[in-house]
Amino acid sequence: MLSYQHLYHAGNMADVHKHAVLAWVLDYLGRKDKPLSYVETHAGRGLYRLDAAQALKTGEAAAGIAVAEARGWFASDHPYARVLALVRARAGAAAYPGSPLLAATLLRPGDRMQLAELHPAERAGLEATLAALPAPHPRWRVAAEDGLAMARALVPPEPRRGLMLVDPSYEVKAEYAALPPFLAAVHRRWGVGVLMLWYPLLEGAPHAPMLAALEAALPQGLRHEVRFPPARPGHRMRGSGLYLVNPPWGLEAELARLSGLFATL
Ligand code: SAM
Repeated sequence: MLSYQHLYHAGNMADVHKHAVLAWVLDYLGRKDKPLSYVETHAGRGLYRLDAAQALKTGEAAAGIAVAEARGWFASDHPYARVLALVRARAGAAAYPGSPLLAATLLRPGDRMQLAELHPAERAGLEATLAALPAPHPRWRVAAEDGLAMARALVPPEPRRGLMLVDPSYEVKAEYAALPPFLAAVHRRWGVGVLMLWYPLLEGAPHAPMLAALEAALPQGLRHEVRFPPARPGHRMRGSGLYLVNPPWGLEAELARLSGLFATL
């Protein structure tokens, strides 16, 4: 039984890290006039309200995106800031885009999104979010199946250029062990795909064996980690990690900029 709901965590510092990098990469890939695939294994509902009781209860967005914006981390022409502005203009000031809506906002009509979400209510929310996209928008499909199984079956996707985001909730501890062989298999079959895995930096570092296995299986990958203060006393998340395969040219400079910003927290 899945109990994770991203609404409690939307807009937290981990989302700021993951979504800022995702937006930067999609914007970069979209500069070339060739269609893209966007594949996401754990999509969530795509649109969150930061004034919902669940979001207010944890205070994670207040300690996340609200702090980043108050400090001017993202200029108005940064792709993450552009998406935030467009989504708020359409859905209200308290709206926050999840990764599928962020991607749908940056992608073009010739691009294609293939998303998986296992939780029925989150999936219904995602389908409603995408059905409300103003035209023109990329083609999209939401699969009601395990995201890793969906991704395994579809790689290499058509179009071949593109990105896969893997953003599990790590509710099931076995997920950590499954990810390195999964990403290595995806990379073998989709050598040109940009792969982006997110993982939490938790007290006790349960991600450490996964990272060692990833670095052994995909040594060319780029690891980027940031740390931040706990969103509330006792919160176990101490930071956010990304492991990227085939990172686009120029991303390292943006990652260095983000490292500098997170270091000021
Ligand atoms: N990527 C989203 C974003 O950044 O806006 C957040 C996704 S949230 C961390 C993880 C999602 O994965 C949850 O909505 C959960 O219901 C879903 N989920 C959990 N196990 C899954 C599985 N095996 N396959 C597909 N989705 C799953």
